[in-house]
Amino acid sequence: MDYLWSPWRYQYIREGTRRNGCPFCEMARRDPARDRECYILHRARLNFVFLNLYPYTTGHVLVTPYAHVANLSDLGDETLQEMMVLARQAEAALKSTYHAEGYNAGMNLGKCAGAGVADHLHLHFLPRWVGDTNFASVVSETRVLPEDLSTTYDKLVGFFRKTRPE
Ligand SMILES: [Zn+2]
Repeated sequence: MDYLWSPWRYQYIREGTRRNGCPFCEMARRDPARDRECYILHRARLNFVFLNLYPYTTGHVLVTPYAHVANLSDLGDETLQEMMVLARQAEAALKSTYHAEGYNAGMNLGKCAGAGVADHLHLHFLPRWVGDTNFASVVSETRVLPEDLSTTYDKLVGFFRKTRPE
């Protein structure tokens, strides 16, 4: 589990964050008409859902609030509730699209916990299949990603748009 969110992948984000501010806030500010370019699957009222640009596996989505906050204690109940509703939609989308057999859902809160974008909390949600992890993939960070992000996006985007959180 220590390896799950592979924080070393986020070195590039850390660099970018220093130069340009928060990457998640920057994504949220973009013109929604261009959501496909940054793989934003869905903009809900208080949170948005997007594909992790450096996925651990195909179908790795992130749910993050628009609010730039680092801790759960800084979020209101409505935002937290909507995050979980969106996670539930992600579960259904990944089940339907990729026939996922299990899921990992988790947050790294704080740099020492492995958060790449530590100032803006986010929920990882990704599908798992029986036998999908082997020694090589866990230890060497070698992953087979059988699908590019655009393809994943096209498969998932319709699902989120037709099932809006209440
Ligand atoms: Zn932010």
